[in-house]
Amino acid sequence: MRDLAASLARWTARGWRRRLRTRTSPPGPEVVLDGRRLLAFCTNDYLGLAGHPALVRALCEGAQRYGTGSSAAHLLGGHTEAHARLEAALAEFVGFPRARLFATGYAANLALVSMLAERGEPVYHDRLNHASLLDGTALARARVVRYAHADADDLARRLDANPAHAPLVVTDGVFSMDGDLAPLPALARVVREHGGALLVDDAHGLGVLGPQGRGSLAQAGVGPGEVQALVGTLGKAFGTAGAFVAGDETLVDGLVHFGRPWIYSTAPPPALAHATLQALALVRAGEEARRRLFERVHQFRRGARELGLPLAPSETPIQPLLVGDAQRAQALSAALLEAGIWVPAIRPPTVPEGTARLRITLSAAHTREQVDRLLEALARAWAAHPAPEEA
Ligand SMILES: *Cc1c(COP(=O)(O)O)cnc(C)c1O
Repeated sequence: MRDLAASLARWTARGWRRRLRTRTSPPGPEVVLDGRRLLAFCTNDYLGLAGHPALVRALCEGAQRYGTGSSAAHLLGGHTEAHARLEAALAEFVGFPRARLFATGYAANLALVSMLAERGEPVYHDRLNHASLLDGTALARARVVRYAHADADDLARRLDANPAHAPLVVTDGVFSMDGDLAPLPALARVVREHGGALLVDDAHGLGVLGPQGRGSLAQAGVGPGEVQALVGTLGKAFGTAGAFVAGDETLVDGLVHFGRPWIYSTAPPPALAHATLQALALVRAGEEARRRLFERVHQFRRGARELGLPLAPSETPIQPLLVGDAQRAQALSAALLEAGIWVPAIRPPTVPEGTARLRITLSAAHTREQVDRLLEALARAWAAHPAPEEA
């Protein structure tokens, strides 16, 4: 058995100790955390829906109609009319024939990738793919082959070097720690040329990008016919919780037979599915929120550029500031916290060694003044904690 205390001591020594904070307020730009009121730039509540009164009402109404729990796994009586209606609506929304609901995006990725990957065979991953996609590969005892980040040519070289029947290629749509986009048209072309299948995890694109918030594929003009499966999560822009896998009839039927994390888990509460149907309506009609959101993104980028901050090439609400050194990232985050602003430092092993960063996320709920406050605090923190070579 692992010596857990020794592992924890090693991580502490490396400066990788994680700290859990407790929020006592509703979600939103201003939160109360460990008893302190803070301005938060760390959530994935991109459209500001997580505390929306219409969703709170829908959740209560759902609970009155269906109760609190689903009472069983989907196959054993836990699958309700609310789940079925949401699955149909989500499939229609993203333009795929069918969709299957999951309690979390982590479980959706685990089920999807482990179902399609074959033992001992390679699964091609973007180097910055989400941990759940890698874990799905491990669950299938398949082999992770990483291609260079957002590099379809590197993927093509690796596929050429290892000709296989129907290779499986997996990518985030929007990269969760970098905010940049996968080159979906190029990836789809390479995968098609090699007779493979492409899986896209659009956790951060859904609700945010494309017409009506239909996501990265819609924005890139890549049709459902070019992608084997799409994963969307509901705990981010949708403001509720859970996830879905969209695909064709065979793929979604496959999950019922081979998607172990779906089969062996209690169905999510039907009340939540009921509320998420309402969230879908708000997302579809959310052009004004998306316009506000991208106004904030541009305001932040303009301001950060003027301050000479190390902006990343991201046009999404995920705006990391690359710091490099983990301790400095930590010090910057602490200085911001001192100023009443919550921006987490993301360090290895969550991101590659030497790429520690402040991960700033923006929401349609942030005001112009709040983004100004962030920029002012960043300018002060940066001056107070210069990089070693500038010190
Ligand atoms: C958040 C996230 C997930 C996991 O979704 P949950 O619903 O939070 O479990 C999967 N993939 C990516 C890219 C994510 O950012």
